[in-house]
Order: sequence, then C-alpha cells, then structure tokens
Amino acid sequence: MEQRLLAIHAHPDDESSKGAGTIAHYSDAGVTCVLMVATGGEEGDILNPAMDRPEIVANLSAVRDQELVAAADILGYARIHRLGYRDSGMPDSDANGRADAFTNAEETEALAAMVAIIRSERPQVILGYDDHEYYPHPDHLRVHDLSIKAFEAAGDPQQFPEAGPAWAPDRLFAPVFSRDRLVALHEAMLARDLESPLTRWLERIPEGEDSPVDVRVPIDSTLTRARDALRAHATQVDPDGFWFQIPEEVVLDSYPWEDFHLLAGDDGPGDPHDLFGGL
Ligand SMILES: [Zn+2]
Repeated sequence: MEQRLLAIHAHPDDESSKGAGTIAHYSDAGVTCVLMVATGGEEGDILNPAMDRPEIVANLSAVRDQELVAAADILGYARIHRLGYRDSGMPDSDANGRADAFTNAEETEALAAMVAIIRSERPQVILGYDDHEYYPHPDHLRVHDLSIKAFEAAGDPQQFPEAGPAWAPDRLFAPVFSRDRLVALHEAMLARDLESPLTRWLERIPEGEDSPVDVRVPIDSTLTRARDALRAHATQVDPDGFWFQIPEEVVLDSYPWEDFHLLAGDDGPGDPHDLFGGL
C-alpha cells in the first residue's frame, strides 16, 4: 500500500514549526507527503531584524510564498495546495474583519475546496490542529474546526459530490506540544546550566491540561532539516530566537520525538511511534 500523508496548516511557516521533523521522517521513508496551506500569511510580523526592509515589507506575501516553497522542499513535501485565503491576523486585530480573511470564509465553500484536495490526494493520515487554547489565532482555530469537518465529509459520497469520488482517510491527528516534552527539554537545559526559554511557556500550561499524546514520531535523523526549514522562513524567524536556543543535541538527548494527538478516526491498536501503525 502506498502511504500518503496530508498536512493542513494555517500560514506559511506553520508547516516548519509543527510536525516538521515528522514530515521529513515520513518522506525519507517513501511516504508521499502533501501540504495544504489556508492563507498567504499576509499579516505576519517581520520577526527577523535583518529582513525588516521596505522592499520585503512591500512584497511580503510573495516573499513568504518563496519561503514556503523552499521550506517544503527541505522537508520533502511532494506538492503544495494553497486555499488562497487571506491571513486573518492576530485576535482582535483589524484584519479579522476583512471579507477575504480565512476566519470569514464561507464554510461550505472552504470545505468543498478542502474535500476536493483530500479526495484527489487520497491520504490515509491527515494532520490538522488541536483547539489551540494557548495560541488562539483565528486561522489556527479555523483549521481545527474545518479539518475535522473535511475529514468526516471526504468519505461521505452524499457530501460535495462535485468534489470527486469519496475517499475516507483513516486518521486525523494534531501536532501538540505536550507538557512532558516541554518539561523534558526544560530540565535538560537546566541540567546543562543553560538558560531555558521554556520557563514562561510551562507556566501557561497547568499540569494535566495539555492534549494527550497518542503517537510520538522519532525525529533523530530529521531534526536538523526541520530547523533548516524553519530558518528558510527568513522574514518570520529570528535565527537567534526562541526556537534555536535549545541546542539540537539537547533535544536529541532528552526528547527526540514530535507529539501527536488523535482527533478523529481509527483508534485501534496502533504503534506508539508511527502515525500509520496498524493501518
Ligand atoms: Zn500560523
């Protein structure tokens, strides 16, 4: 059986910060990995001082698309599908009100486009988002809601008959940052007398309130590429910033996995380290 994986993301750069090592892991194993991205990231702040230049600000969506193509190539994605909505911006910003913002997209229209992509790519495994209690970006919440609805609708021939023959994917997962992972990385940093960038993040996630982890995918051989993909988003990522303060060897020694929570679909006996286990 040819294995296929579809990852649904809100903005260019999300594919490189959530489950990126996992995509590289599966593309190395011969799995066809396909990316769906909802928006062009037009509201992203330029977070890298070296890239905050007028010619980049004026062409941000084109620049971000080039960054996306470069990152997807590093991770081994076979194709990118762009839904073409506009970035809705952070909660309570003016961009929330625009008619072309993803948060205001007509549900039936957005679902029809998503279902058509699922039916043409025929993935067994889809990655969506959890409910993002700790990062309530309107576009991330919309991906959470629509990914669950599209997962259910794709296999139902009564829904969206014009979107191609029904295809029922087996599992929908969300990449999650588990408390176990944050604690392991935090303690590994402290044990090496390094300053931990996770102190504040851990305070925001009370014990027992994070999403449960159903599968941990090994990223031993792909962490370097995941970080390279994130760096390819040069406007959005400060190369001296948060994500890069934890040395790779600390990650590999303390928690060399990415965590996933099963949102919907087959929960039968699987494999604790494989999203496709038992399928
Ligand atoms: Zn995002």
